[in-house]
Amino acid sequence: MIELEGLTKRYGDKLAVDHLTFQVRPGMITGFLGPNGAGKSTTMRMMLDLDNPTAGSVRIDGKHYRDLQEPLKYIGALLDAKNMHGGRSAYHNLLCLAQSNRIPASRVAEVLDTVGLTAVAKKKSKGFSLGMGQRLGIAYALLGDPEILMFDEPVNGLDPEGIHWIRNLMKSLAAQGRTVFVSSHLMSEMALTADHLIVIGQGKLLADTSMAGFIRENSRSYVRVRTPQPEQFKDAVGAAGLSVSLREDGSFEIEGADMAEPVGELAAQHRVTLHELSPQQASLEEAFMQMTAQAVEYHAHNLNDPGAAAAAGQADPPLAQNAPPAPGQQGQGPQWGKGD
Ligand code: ADP
Ligand code: MG
Repeated sequence: MIELEGLTKRYGDKLAVDHLTFQVRPGMITGFLGPNGAGKSTTMRMMLDLDNPTAGSVRIDGKHYRDLQEPLKYIGALLDAKNMHGGRSAYHNLLCLAQSNRIPASRVAEVLDTVGLTAVAKKKSKGFSLGMGQRLGIAYALLGDPEILMFDEPVNGLDPEGIHWIRNLMKSLAAQGRTVFVSSHLMSEMALTADHLIVIGQGKLLADTSMAGFIRENSRSYVRVRTPQPEQFKDAVGAAGLSVSLREDGSFEIEGADMAEPVGELAAQHRVTLHELSPQQASLEEAFMQMTAQAVEYHAHNLNDPGAAAAAGQADPPLAQNAPPAPGQQGQGPQWGKGD
């Protein structure tokens, strides 16, 4: 269990991490999601005592990191895979770490096997591909057999096979009852791996919710209809008591996953011609982008909307209220953190 309490980091006048309070629980994968620059890596470094908080605290199983005896046996982390002795073999890199942390040498062969590097254990790690380097980094994290594991953007730059492998590894670690905390800037990645979700933007907590809850709240199902007879169509579905909304592009949306059939029948009864009748699902990526829209550091200017361009041009746009939720999604957000 990891507990953050008001964790804050300021770099000059930049508030990189802004009063984060949340818990990371054992036996599941907790996804740490936020756009680039949101403060994920800074938060993770403070969790590992690699950076000092400006305010607030992190507790690992109730203790501060620096009070843990033999911390590698409590918490292992993959940050970025650069901090290795490239001139040493994978085996020797791990052996040095084991010896300086009173971990039995036999554990080295075990973790090399777990990450699939046994065959190249004697090779110098500077010749390793990105994927092999990532596996070696994970071997480091696993060396002390810790109950808590942290991975900062572990799938970045990996090929599909490597991504698949890391996902399965994290799942099996969580299934063993361990605490797994993994960051990503991709909602799609989180949707495939995480059981629980912490979302941050500009250092602030935006959501702390189960993945199932996030999907339930945000994956809106609807049916899209295009017709050359919009008035007749609106009257027909309105008379049947269905709620229908008109999009900017002239299409209609009717809420509900199974509405294609009844809507098609209605149109036929009222002799309304349809050019499209298609079930749709709003993507989780859209929900995430909407949630963090006010919190991304740099916006592309929207040339069709002078208001948005002006807001994006401000040195420090107000955080709240300047990007209303898209139609149909108002008030459907997951459990929001303090937005102050
Ligand atoms: P993420 O990992 O979510 O992409 P980071 O934690 O790396 O975000 O960065 C959060 C913010 O803090 C960014 O604006 C970044 O530029 C800034 N930042 C991170 N590390 C430092 C540092 N050592 N000095 C100054 N600013 C930093
Ligand atoms: Mg980062």
